Amino acid sequence: MILPQHMVQYTARGVLSMRTAVAIQFALNVVEPMMSGIGGGGFMMIYLAKENKIVVLDYREQAPAGAKPTMFLDAEGKPLPFRTAIQTGHAVGIPGTLKGVATALENFGTMSLAQVIEPAIELAEKGIMVNKVLAQSIVDSMYKFNDAAKQVFAPNGQPLPEGALLVQPDLAKTFRLIKERGVDVFYTGEIAQAIVEVVQARGGTMTLEDLKNYEVKFREPIRGTYRGYEIVSMPPPSSGGLTLIQMLKILEGFDIKALGHNTTQTLHLMIETMRLAYADRGKYLGDSDFVKIPFKGYFDEKYIEERRALIDWQKANPNIKAGDPWFYEGSPTCPASQLKNVFAMVNENETSQTTHYTVIDKWGNLVACTTTIEDVFGSGIMVPGYGFMLNNEMTDFDFVPGGANEVQPGKRPRSSMTPTIVFKDGKPVFSVGSPGGARIITTVMQVIMNMIDHGMSVQEAINAPRIFSSSYPTVQWEAGLPEHVKKELELRGHKIADAPRIMGSVQSIVIDLETGKIYGGADPRREGTVIGVP
Ligand code: GLU
Repeated sequence: MILPQHMVQYTARGVLSMRTAVAIQFALNVVEPMMSGIGGGGFMMIYLAKENKIVVLDYREQAPAGAKPTMFLDAEGKPLPFRTAIQTGHAVGIPGTLKGVATALENFGTMSLAQVIEPAIELAEKGIMVNKVLAQSIVDSMYKFNDAAKQVFAPNGQPLPEGALLVQPDLAKTFRLIKERGVDVFYTGEIAQAIVEVVQARGGTMTLEDLKNYEVKFREPIRGTYRGYEIVSMPPPSSGGLTLIQMLKILEGFDIKALGHNTTQTLHLMIETMRLAYADRGKYLGDSDFVKIPFKGYFDEKYIEERRALIDWQKANPNIKAGDPWFYEGSPTCPASQLKNVFAMVNENETSQTTHYTVIDKWGNLVACTTTIEDVFGSGIMVPGYGFMLNNEMTDFDFVPGGANEVQPGKRPRSSMTPTIVFKDGKPVFSVGSPGGARIITTVMQVIMNMIDHGMSVQEAINAPRIFSSSYPTVQWEAGLPEHVKKELELRGHKIADAPRIMGSVQSIVIDLETGKIYGGADPRREGTVIGVP
């Protein structure tokens, strides 16, 4: 797919960081086969320095034409358990990643797909060393692996341990096919055939027609301000940008800097804000090609004030419900058809999956990308003979029909992925993104606040312990949060989860406007890395 004519000027020089970004995606498919790859989808935010423009690419997975709103209900009409649902063929969405990165490269790249896929072929053939995260992911996913996946990740029935060599000849073969024949081999050729066969064998409806019709979409980003910075983030079908900026706008009304970092008072205000925003997210957000979204009402100052007024400084509010941003949209209310059922639908048990990566080149062109196959190792289905995992992204839809995020043919499930770029005086000053399911949005928010409110360096901002709450009363927390703060939060009516848990894995790039220097921050929670090339 080529950009509309009026955008072609951006490509005159090409974006050097794009070839790296796409090469990273293919390499990730090899070294982190449980987190992302050509069997999945993602969102890419591209900053074009010369034009001072943002381009957003949506290559989120899409529901096949045969998908039904009731497909995650059992015979009695009850929602299937998550672990059961993700292993069905219905869980697999039409993959977007390959077409997404190819589109990005075609429009902005300085190298061909055949060139940037080459290093990943070598990695897959020569093998990589299994690290701790991959080893643990294999053990945790044995229950859902099909035979093809078992042969690669648990030969002779034994999960590959940390330090073992993982060689992926089928994946190398697939990448070679793509190198020689382009994306068509995946969307209309022999790989499409193999995908359809394995998905249908698991009861899914995906057809060759579905794959052939898949389209990458160009989207307009969500924009808002926070304490003089402009926040530019991901639009629907992600709930990321709207939820992130709504939370920041509510919190802008408090002197967070004076209240201090991770103090009881600051955390109390943040927890209440998260619950308010997640209530709205559950009710109003879904794929904007299918449901109406109150884009203006969502950040309207009066609406934000109304929501902020529901926060008691001292006590947890046990009764937080979604508000009515439609009232401030100038429209009577949300279309009734979207409101038959409303869910907070946050899967509290998700682990940290998915990957975020960011690349900048010497001209300041920036690519921020969050990429996923949803659960760790997705559906557990490897395409036999082709060596890549298929996503279970369809389980990001609500299982019970009727709400803004119900399953519909051709629709994209609501995401939390939040690649974000922060601007000051019209120039980008940092980018941030993370994996972590619904915790992505609050993770990104905490890193932004750590830098803007608390003046932390990027690495300090990433390392600091995080919290998460999507509804009253539970608060999840990371190790390092002071004991007395947890006790004081309990006294305010919050329920502090029994054990800590890790949230997200942030990668960030900072541009110092004064010196012109560029810094990176990477998350130690999952072996993040910063690399600079002279
Ligand atoms: N499927 C999730 C989403 O799109 C991303 C996976 C994760 O990081 O948990 O929001």
